[in-house]
Amino acid sequence: MIRFEKVSKQYRGTTRPALDAVDFEINRGEFVFLVGQSGSGKSSCLRLMIKEDRPSSGSIHVLGQDLGNISSRKIPFFRRNLGVVFQDFRLLPNKTVFDNVAFTLQVIGKSRGFIQEAVPDVLQMVGLAGKANRYPHELSGGEQQRVAIARAIVNKPALLLADEPTGNLDPATSAGIMALLERINAGGTTIVMATHAADFVDRMQRRVIELQQGVIVRDEKDAGYGHTAAMPIAGADTTIKDTGDLSKIRDAIAPKPGDTGVIEPLTTLDAVPAMLDTFEDQTIDDTQEIEKLPPEFTTAPAPEPNPADIPITARFNIIPQERTDDGADDQEVGPVQ
Ligand code: ADP
Ligand code: MG
Repeated sequence: MIRFEKVSKQYRGTTRPALDAVDFEINRGEFVFLVGQSGSGKSSCLRLMIKEDRPSSGSIHVLGQDLGNISSRKIPFFRRNLGVVFQDFRLLPNKTVFDNVAFTLQVIGKSRGFIQEAVPDVLQMVGLAGKANRYPHELSGGEQQRVAIARAIVNKPALLLADEPTGNLDPATSAGIMALLERINAGGTTIVMATHAADFVDRMQRRVIELQQGVIVRDEKDAGYGHTAAMPIAGADTTIKDTGDLSKIRDAIAPKPGDTGVIEPLTTLDAVPAMLDTFEDQTIDDTQEIEKLPPEFTTAPAPEPNPADIPITARFNIIPQERTDDGADDQEVGPVQ
């Protein structure tokens, strides 16, 4: 699903490579932690995976594609199969929860009917069914990150990349986010999560790839549980089948004395298989045309707009444009002027 072969990355104007001959392979269904101190190269790795940047040398395959062979014009299509989550959430502040999630689908031309079904499903899955009409500033940090995760998975990506998704959250809230990511992974989505919180990762007993100054110093493939393992969610009255000893994960995500924050009960697990089908490595379909976006935007009146009536008000760059000289082609899904 992801293969790095002798990948090096040296940024212009620097003397040491950010990544130095990095080799690894991640298979479908895995949950992989990418760990290492700040500056060790984690974000660089993730940026290369989404072709936001190019390696200085080496080759990268993601979802069956050699990224070196994907033209700038096709990058947006390639990225439709990826979900990305960041430490700082990156929600659109003047859009409701519903519209933040719907936006991704509108941009790729999904019908209004599809959006009206898919968005409530995914909001329910992340435990935010009742908050569709809230604005980001009306939510806690953990809730905002759930919205960001909902947005990342609403198009059923085969691969979810998360760069320090719990970096801004307190331990109990982080545990809730981790539980959610575990559930998404249990539904078949491959997850790569960068974090510098090594202690907590060790308790999760998942595969760990550790970077130090751009070099892999640890790759524990068999650190614990199979990727089909899933855990009971705090507060939920349903559990899904587990395939291993879950006590360590349960301990890892359980609030500890002194933790602050609330783990919001996730209302149902029924949505998981519906939302997250099993994915095969797929050939990217670049034949679809992107539906024309409205040329003019109006800002929806606050505070309680009907989500269905809100036009697309801005192109949200979930993934920043590739920083290359020929990136102009990407404008087909770029900001609408
Ligand atoms: P991490 O995410 O593990 O903190 P990064 O991948 O962000 O690490 O950074 C790895 C190294 O590359 C660091 O030394 C950082 O300063 C450098 N670096 C990252 N991005 C750039 C850039 N755009 N230009 C120059 N140096 C960069
Ligand atoms: Mg980083």
